[in-house]
Amino acid sequence: MMLDLTTKEIKKRSALRVNPLKTCQPVGAMYAALGVHRCMPHSHGSQGCCSFHRMYLTRHFKEPAIASSSSFTEGASVFGGGSNIKTSVKNIFDIYNPDIIAVHTTCLSETIGDDLNSYIHDMVIPTGKIVVHASTPSYVGSHITGYGNMVSGFIKYLAKKSGVSNGKLAILPGFVNPGDMREMKMILSLMDADFIMLPDTSGVLDAPMTGAYEMYPSGGTKISDIVSIGDCKLTLAIGELAMENAGNELKRKCGVMYKTLPLPIGIEATDAFIMAISESTQSNVAHELEEQRGQLVDIMLDSHPYFSNKSVAIYGDPDSVLGLSTLCLELGMIPKYMLTGTTGEAFNTKAQELLAKFGIEDCVAKSSSDLFELHQLIKTNSVDLMIGGTHGKFIARAEDIPLVRAGFPIIDRYVHSYMPLIGYKGAMRLIELMLNALMDRQDRDCEDEDMEMVM
Ligand code: SF4
Repeated sequence: MMLDLTTKEIKKRSALRVNPLKTCQPVGAMYAALGVHRCMPHSHGSQGCCSFHRMYLTRHFKEPAIASSSSFTEGASVFGGGSNIKTSVKNIFDIYNPDIIAVHTTCLSETIGDDLNSYIHDMVIPTGKIVVHASTPSYVGSHITGYGNMVSGFIKYLAKKSGVSNGKLAILPGFVNPGDMREMKMILSLMDADFIMLPDTSGVLDAPMTGAYEMYPSGGTKISDIVSIGDCKLTLAIGELAMENAGNELKRKCGVMYKTLPLPIGIEATDAFIMAISESTQSNVAHELEEQRGQLVDIMLDSHPYFSNKSVAIYGDPDSVLGLSTLCLELGMIPKYMLTGTTGEAFNTKAQELLAKFGIEDCVAKSSSDLFELHQLIKTNSVDLMIGGTHGKFIARAEDIPLVRAGFPIIDRYVHSYMPLIGYKGAMRLIELMLNALMDRQDRDCEDEDMEMVM
């Protein structure tokens, strides 16, 4: 839907969001729960919420996203969902036999005030099985908030401090694809770092085709590792806006100090990630990583004429937008719009710090935004390139701007979730995608000019 509003009228909107740059908290909670081995995510609310959230994840990852529902009807809405959750937990363990059920709430169960702490405390849980929960009301925050809340929930229920350090790093990856988690693990292994990653959706939402359906694939963080995460020597919360609360929760519960890092997208942020590992492990940077960095610098120099001073609009999740903008700035591009739908001043502050560092003054950087606003801004002052999820394609098409799909959700393309955006390799891939988009446009413009000359 496109209305012809003036900038003043856009500013007046305070409640209405049109094509929001975010989705429900439970989507993030479900994704985090899928990153735990043999875990069944459980949606405490109506079936519609659960179906929508599963569909959202399945369309992005092209993999079945399992989850169960408390299946609220009118009765539960009036009298509370206590009996629903108790029956659900019994049925799920009887029928699907997970090791752990991760319950997240929805708008309805939060509004009626269901007390999951006491429900879980009072229910009969089979020996050796576990139930955890996180509050994820969708009328605050976004899927990023829900993701962080579920990771905190796992820590709150399960992490233990034994008093003996396991010498490992706790890695809390932000809301990224399984391909990114694999790349983080590859970098950690090259640096000889011992670590526990929570959650880890690699091997779950990018599991290979074996010919047989496996409800619980081999990937995911083991429950024993979540318990042991309380004995780690340091937490790296990767994705400052998504993971700081989870890092803080581990510090509060088990005294593990934490360091927040930006998503390692681009040279500087990847350097920071590698140096944080190096400082913790006291190991030198692996030759392979130095080689990758050198290759990336070479590629950036070669492609600089195509990127220099090109304007770009970046939209999506807060940490991803900051990371993608950093790479664009490192390439000599000018971010004109940096928009996220997730609420919070922290994004605005970090965006302004980043822009100031590169001397950019006239970029609109905003949280709580939507695609409607992005379209209005682009109509006023267009850009050379757009970077973000699938839903921006209607703006790209209407305004004839090349679009690079990066972030969440990407529902009209394949393979993206297997490939990293983080690390030096991820930056190389992003540069290739961006360069192809810009050069395709340049080729097309040249062809149009040739046609005009012939005519
Ligand atoms: S009711 Fe809340 S949780 Fe359910 S789909 Fe709607 S916004 Fe999301």
